[in-house]
Amino acid sequence: LRIEYRKPESVQEDKCSNRFPVSSVGAASAKVAVGSHVWVEDTDEAWIDGEVVESDGEEIKVHCQSKMVVAKVNSVYPKDPEFPELGVDDMTKLAYLHEPGLLLNLKSRFNANEIYTYTGNILIAVNPFKRLPHLYGNDIMEQYKGTDFGELSPHPFAVADSAYRKMINEGVSQAILVSGESGAGKTESTKMLMQYLAYMGGKAESEGRSVEQQVLESNPVLEAFGNAKTVRNNNSSRFGKFVEIHFNHMGRISGAAIRTYLLERSRVCQVSDPERNYHCFYMLCAAPEQETERYKLGKPDTFHYLNQSNCYALDALDDSKEYLATRKAMDVVGISPEEQDAIFRIVAAILHLGNIEFAKGEESDAAEPKDDKSRFHLKVAAELFMCDEKALESSLCQRVMVTRGESITKPLDPGSAALSRDALAKIVYSKLFDWLVTKINNSIGQDPSSKYIIGVLDIYGFESFKTNSFEQFCINLTNEKLQQHFNQHVFKMEQEEYTKEEIDWSYIEFIDNQDVLDLIEKVTYQTELFLDKNKDYVVGEHQSLMNSSDCSFVSSLFPKPREESSKTSKFSSIGSQFKQQLQSLLETLNTTEPHYIRCVKPNNVLKPEIFENANVLHQLRCGGVMEAIRISCAGYPTRKPFNEFLTRFRILAPEATARSFDEVDACKKLLAKVDLKGFQIGKTKVFLRAGQMAELDAHRAEVL
Ligand code: ADP
Ligand code: MG
Repeated sequence: LRIEYRKPESVQEDKCSNRFPVSSVGAASAKVAVGSHVWVEDTDEAWIDGEVVESDGEEIKVHCQSKMVVAKVNSVYPKDPEFPELGVDDMTKLAYLHEPGLLLNLKSRFNANEIYTYTGNILIAVNPFKRLPHLYGNDIMEQYKGTDFGELSPHPFAVADSAYRKMINEGVSQAILVSGESGAGKTESTKMLMQYLAYMGGKAESEGRSVEQQVLESNPVLEAFGNAKTVRNNNSSRFGKFVEIHFNHMGRISGAAIRTYLLERSRVCQVSDPERNYHCFYMLCAAPEQETERYKLGKPDTFHYLNQSNCYALDALDDSKEYLATRKAMDVVGISPEEQDAIFRIVAAILHLGNIEFAKGEESDAAEPKDDKSRFHLKVAAELFMCDEKALESSLCQRVMVTRGESITKPLDPGSAALSRDALAKIVYSKLFDWLVTKINNSIGQDPSSKYIIGVLDIYGFESFKTNSFEQFCINLTNEKLQQHFNQHVFKMEQEEYTKEEIDWSYIEFIDNQDVLDLIEKVTYQTELFLDKNKDYVVGEHQSLMNSSDCSFVSSLFPKPREESSKTSKFSSIGSQFKQQLQSLLETLNTTEPHYIRCVKPNNVLKPEIFENANVLHQLRCGGVMEAIRISCAGYPTRKPFNEFLTRFRILAPEATARSFDEVDACKKLLAKVDLKGFQIGKTKVFLRAGQMAELDAHRAEVL
């Protein structure tokens, strides 16, 4: 089945390119005067700036640092002549809110080790790829405690503090959504949020280990089984995670729950070079000898599930040490030695399973183990699963069909048998992962009487691969939904700002409603159809085989389906399970007030001090930052406090402003004099439409 779904990138591009040509929004083309500074598009650097040296009204010649560029007037953006050297801590404070401006701002700040920047109340975090200890620590947390959002430098602590205080003061549950591509710093940011929430809501004196400690301690276990090396991140989480922290009426942490989403199961049997399978497989191969002997394991390159890629070892990571550390971490979260033995037995069994190859039998096309080597691995896998060897073989090589009460056994061909083998490996692994999550939750403990929660979502962003599997589809669908949620939120926040400033925004609705509706209703997947066709259900034969295991741990992973619902539960597809998960996640999010952190990876070589314009821009587009800006541009993207506005433009109407001691009055007179239309005067700020700042600056340049 091939399903074409649109690449997020291309659509994002035409939706968020944020091209509101200067001329269409007020500032006439003629304002791109000789001598003014503009941004022009560039294939290498995305945007470069220079001085206009010639203009014929349609085309201009721009003198940039390294070259001379000819560009259409309506394809360039004005450059802020007063752009502060170190940038501004909130994008909405930029005089010109456009792509090149955003980029320059992030870059200027990044170079000064200011990796955090707001866009309104969205926090953008650029991964520094180096330790910046002065940014974290208890003294810093103490500073952010109870400080108004926006007063101190942008920081995850400020986001966490705002969420915590809103929860306490307004009695509403909160969610912090951390997104970004692999390696962008989501997990690191999540840890900081958890650290701050623990600081604010931790128990003063705890018996034994605190909830927050236990949540943090569960990380190594989940990472061993759910993280892998990918091309983008050596320790990439291949599942989404929503950590729900429960608070009691005193605002103290009283429990927590970890929910996981969409573990990438195809990785268990399919690894592309130079990536790796899940860490636990390599760890187990590097375990102490008595264990590798017990599980009949050898070097990772002897296993089909691992040797599809040439990457086995990771820099700065010793799998044998990691194995022992994982065992310790399992002790800490309360996984018993017997359970640990069963877990690693299953991991080993999956590796052996992968080495069973199939060939046609002598007399028919029916699949059977190819050779003695395959028979050996079949035998070991059955031993480790503690199930009958013959039963394992037939569950891989045959299907039982039931028609009108009669059951018919149908042999599979070698290709189908290999698929059946992979399906078994995937389902066992994902059940094992789910078991770990449940176990961790049992040991942390939830608070059923908790009043509020703060949820922290760490989920990987849009992905696009050579082959886009069902899993990528699910991931992208999740992102679409979250994006929708995000847009609605941004739109609401904009409206709140306008309401707070008591300006009339019915006007915006009238003009731009369609635009916004288009943004919110962006979704063209035919999910029902797709999911129905993709019934990746638990094969009945696999279900009963594993259920009959002599190992109670193994059989408990595959409980007998309840009679009355045997048909549906047996065939409950992964798709519908995922849909349910997504639904419940969105329901939870809808009851919370959201906060957003967008993580950005400044380069693909994972090194400090490198900021690649085009790369960053691409992420801002995909991550919805451009969407937010676009929504903002549909209204009044430039807001200047009265005094700042007057300082910059007083020169345009010195006589009007000199006689007036009232800032509002002075602003009004000034704006009337330059004959600007469509702006609004709020309670503390002047609100300008897109392009009007450029117009005012042009007047100013004439006067100067
Ligand atoms: P993600 O979860 O988005 O895939 P991670 O949070 O695992 O990415 O970050 C990848 C790596 O980037 C980390 O292992 C760390 O080396 C570095 N990193 C991320 N955020 C920071 C930060 N704030 N300070 C220092 N290093 C960071
Ligand atoms: Mg991560």
